[in-house]
Amino acid sequence: MIVVDPKRCAYCGSCVSVCPVGALDLQETRLTVSDACIDCLLCVAACPMGAISACGGRPASLAKTHYDVIIVGAGPAGSVTAWEAARLGLSVLLLEKRQEIGSPVRCAEGITHSALASFLPPDPRWISATIRTASIHVVEPTREQEWVPAQEPAEDAAMGYVLERRVFDRVLAEQAAAAGARVMVKTAAEGLLRDGQRVVGVRVRGPSGAMDITARVTVGADGVESRVGTWAGIDTTLAQADLMSCAQYLMAGVETDPHTTVYYLDQELAPGGYAWIFPKGDGRANVGLGVQAGITEKAPIELLNRFVDKYPFLSRGSPVTLVSGGVPVGLPPAQIVADGLLLVGDAARQVDPLTGGGIANGMEAGRLAAQVVAEALDAGDTSAKALGRYAELWSAGRGKDMARNLRLRRRFAPEQRTDERFLRLFALSIGAAK
Ligand code: FAD
Repeated sequence: MIVVDPKRCAYCGSCVSVCPVGALDLQETRLTVSDACIDCLLCVAACPMGAISACGGRPASLAKTHYDVIIVGAGPAGSVTAWEAARLGLSVLLLEKRQEIGSPVRCAEGITHSALASFLPPDPRWISATIRTASIHVVEPTREQEWVPAQEPAEDAAMGYVLERRVFDRVLAEQAAAAGARVMVKTAAEGLLRDGQRVVGVRVRGPSGAMDITARVTVGADGVESRVGTWAGIDTTLAQADLMSCAQYLMAGVETDPHTTVYYLDQELAPGGYAWIFPKGDGRANVGLGVQAGITEKAPIELLNRFVDKYPFLSRGSPVTLVSGGVPVGLPPAQIVADGLLLVGDAARQVDPLTGGGIANGMEAGRLAAQVVAEALDAGDTSAKALGRYAELWSAGRGKDMARNLRLRRRFAPEQRTDERFLRLFALSIGAAK
């Protein structure tokens, strides 16, 4: 009987195409072998990844290498950390467990102009839509009305963008590579290397097997599903109330303004959160909602279907992609650094608790982290105390806005989110008010 190594399998289907007895079955990202297998090994020869074997895989390569910084996760937070660290002259390794950076997308892809512009100029390759206005709908059981902020930003300026993250994320990693970082895809961190309490690198597994790679500093940029913090002894577990559970369709054939993002504060459809329509050009839009975990028994996907059914301009279109994901909407844990390690982005829970926006926060955290790491390496001190400067800078900057927005979310219970003060700050946070 043959064995499939799921960590190597790229789900390409080559093996299925040569199997003479139909023993292989490929689901989206799951390849299974049935008892019908006759051990002909045709699939082994067909597999481009070396993921199928008669005896359980190739022996691991134990090559050992060393970098100034290893970054786990090539989302926006990890790639900007890598880019900035390489720009500052450090030797950098950026690891990504997926085979394609940026895919599958788990995001509504909205970002404000001001947040993006300090990193790189907008580029049509990774911008689906330029946003000039936002429309906030307050929906109560008996009425629905648009709430307009007293001071809207100038209409001719770009308020923000809906990105094409599949391309955007990859471009950020390409910038890191162009600045000198080494990028490894389909290579997952499996654990941390330690010297006493100090983190001194990462055990990884990639297409050529397992490896120990040492580094003077390790950065956990491994997203909402982060394990790096836990491995380092930092408790990143989210309280139920601090997770927004989201479902979204990329829809085609939707009649919506191509330059307006639409938000629905509707406690029946999106209890504890909100629903959104973010245009993507050519009649396409990200149509989704986020629900505070545990607040309702209805699954977000069920509520999303209701949302689409409720508005004919949506239900006339069709979903072409389903996205689901969790967004951390509390505050970072008390510790986001350890000896030889720091966390950035969703891994550090650095998402706006009101809007659920984490792209710009993660990029900003990456920039700060790289600068502090460079200083720490210069000074020859990568202790938690020295790296703690990063946490201080974060708390004095964007961390302050996050804390304010969390206070607001907690002060106004979901049914009170029609309050003028809540709406004003919500509008400010999405860039729809001055
Ligand atoms: P990620 O983008 O999640 O990247 C983490 C990377 O680490 C991933 O590529 C993952 O594969 C990799 N990884 C994980 N574990 C390992 C491992 N062990 N080894 C190697 N690699 C690993 N934010 C906005 O700003 N605007 C929005 O409109 C918006 N909409 C959203 C809609 C939805 C439905 C969801 C779920 C989220 C949304 N967000 C939005 C949040 C935003 O997507 C995240 O905050 C952002 O992607 C965080 O970036 P990151 O780099 O920290 O993490």
